[in-house]
Amino acid sequence: MSGSESRAQAVFQITNAEPMSLKKPKSLDKIWATDVFTLVKMEEALSKKAFRAMKKTVETGAALDASTADVVAAAMKDWAISKGANYFSHIFYPMTGASAEKHDGFIISDASGKAITEFTGSLLIKGEPDGSSFPNGSIRVTNAARGYTAWDPTSPAYIMHNDKGSTLCIPSIFISWTGEALDMKVPLLRSNSAMDKAAQKVLKLMGEKNVATLNSSCGAEQEYFLVDSNFANLRPDLVLAGRTLFGAAAAKGQEFDDHYFGAIQPRILSFMQDTEEQLYKLGIPAKTRHNEVAPGQFEIAPYYEAANVAADHQQLLMTVFKNTAKKHGFICLMHEKPFAGINGSGKHVNWSVGNSTQGNLLDPGTTPHDNLNFLIFCGAVIRGVHKYGPLLRAVIASAGNDHRLGANEAPPAILSVYLGSQIEGVFDQIAEGKLDGCDEGGIMDMGLSQIPPFAKDPGDRNRTSPFAFTGNRFEFRAVGSDQSVAGPLIAMNTMLADSLNWIAEELETAIDGKSNAAIREGVIKVLKKLMKEHGAAVFGGDGYSSEWHEMAVKERGLKNLPTTADALPYLKDDSIKALFESTGVLSETELASRFEVHAEKYILSIEVEAKLVQSMAKTSIYPAASRYLADLALTAASATEMGVDFDNATAKNVAKNISGMMKSVTKLEKAMAKEGHGSEEKHMQFCANDVRGLMDEVRGFADALEGDVADDMWPLPTYQEMLFIK
Ligand code: ADP
Ligand code: MG
Repeated sequence: MSGSESRAQAVFQITNAEPMSLKKPKSLDKIWATDVFTLVKMEEALSKKAFRAMKKTVETGAALDASTADVVAAAMKDWAISKGANYFSHIFYPMTGASAEKHDGFIISDASGKAITEFTGSLLIKGEPDGSSFPNGSIRVTNAARGYTAWDPTSPAYIMHNDKGSTLCIPSIFISWTGEALDMKVPLLRSNSAMDKAAQKVLKLMGEKNVATLNSSCGAEQEYFLVDSNFANLRPDLVLAGRTLFGAAAAKGQEFDDHYFGAIQPRILSFMQDTEEQLYKLGIPAKTRHNEVAPGQFEIAPYYEAANVAADHQQLLMTVFKNTAKKHGFICLMHEKPFAGINGSGKHVNWSVGNSTQGNLLDPGTTPHDNLNFLIFCGAVIRGVHKYGPLLRAVIASAGNDHRLGANEAPPAILSVYLGSQIEGVFDQIAEGKLDGCDEGGIMDMGLSQIPPFAKDPGDRNRTSPFAFTGNRFEFRAVGSDQSVAGPLIAMNTMLADSLNWIAEELETAIDGKSNAAIREGVIKVLKKLMKEHGAAVFGGDGYSSEWHEMAVKERGLKNLPTTADALPYLKDDSIKALFESTGVLSETELASRFEVHAEKYILSIEVEAKLVQSMAKTSIYPAASRYLADLALTAASATEMGVDFDNATAKNVAKNISGMMKSVTKLEKAMAKEGHGSEEKHMQFCANDVRGLMDEVRGFADALEGDVADDMWPLPTYQEMLFIK
């Protein structure tokens, strides 16, 4: 079947596709967390003593003894079996940012050969999945490759069902035999405790008597594309790389903004409702759904949760979305830039810190100039973004995200922080050693008596900032849609811990006396110094403008790191090593392994794409274009024979672009054959500049051919088909 026939068939299939019919949705209280071993279920199943111990671990991170683990394991097994599970799996999160699982049966056979089930505390606590094929950044040499997973009781266990059976899933850490973190969860948990420890010191100095354990929170907005699988399966680039490596722009893109917040199509809505029901059963509080700016692009945002749980839930959400899309006849693309020329997808990581005694420490309240705790924590974030901007850039660096950052749709690759006019005004005063008052939002009165007036927000939002204060939290907007949120959360918690440690030291000397006035004076003094040293990171203007790019680098000394090759090497910087070591979040070896894993992933991703570019150009586009050229040549010859005028311009253009494309393919092949780059840094730069440059060159010719070759001969589903036909 020629490409065009398969495209026509795909259109036919989609035209006749119905939205998947779902059972009538059950009310939230009937399905909420039914597949989760929640504290409520533990309370029913455990003794009072065991439950109290478990609750304390969940709420404060206190140690859990082996006998309680045994009791919890038994209750967990009974519950899981009652839900139809016959397998269990420690779910872990290797450094690649993926989720990993290895399933084990509850089954053992006894002396008489009868099958019985077994699940002890020690099986719950520790698994040994080997997992030695995961990239480990040289931490595990093959002859010492033992790796363990260990239960994280602070993230609830849950059950995943499919048609044939169910599996009990136990969120876990993943460590080497030598005790080094091989995953994202260990450093995330450590970063949270480092932040708590530092925050405790500061809050005590601020005169707080009763300070509960602090926890970081996260609410991640996830953007994604849905493409009908009838089309997607005809595109090797979408199947293997998750993005289109070729494709001319459709005549209509997103210029009308008509997709943004538009009415949701029935097939898409049915997909969304299906995912939401599954998420609710898994205890994931899906809250917002809408069409995004690009055609075929959508967003889901759950309500925020404790960062560690939110990170596990985010991974699970991505799995549920990808699986459910298949069921509905779509492919769910979470790549950062699946289609050129229209918006890519990001993940906005909303983040804050707080506890049960002081509340959300990034909530300014109605009088921020009087909320000293808020000012201290907000100041600590400003210092963090300034001092560790390159780290924030490095933890969101990936081959996919390179296409977004720095292009004029997504946050720039320069890390600055947006505070909004009200809070920026307060920090401007502090920089001058004052703290007098602040702007107020006032009331929004439209002069329409039928519209009830409401309170106006005191600050606007700025969509062009990579790191923005949004009322009671910071929103890290430059995160890639395919990335784990754990990396950014680790970086944010750790930089905050470091800043709070610095602030604590400064406050010790700056606060002279115990009175409120003395504390206020001390805080102003410390924050004034902080703003003098780090205020350069605060920026309220247009982050996309060329003026900012110029000013940020030249006047403010901020780093502009457009590619992963520029950003990742900062993980080797002495200041970053010191940050992670002093806070106890990552040892030097653990940090070095992260550089290696991410560098390797970057290089491999680009190499896979480059191979695809060659094979698609040679085996799909070249044959189609040459066939068309042969057609044109034949027509021209017959026309001449008949004495009819025939314009050869198109034929010449096609011939020129075919030859240009094949020359570029040869150049790309040569570049790929190069060996011995000397270092990973150099190899990354080579991929970012030379390889990517040549891939773009091939694409330029191929996309031009798409504009000339007869549509019925074109082998690949087009942008128009993939983006607009659902
Ligand atoms: P927008 O699109 O305007 O940025 P959304 O409402 O789509 O906002 O998403 C905001 C996200 O921020 C939600 O996940 C929300 O739960 C989360 N959020 C709100 N408060 C906090 C907080 N204190 N800590 C972390 N996340 C928060
Ligand atoms: Mg947002």
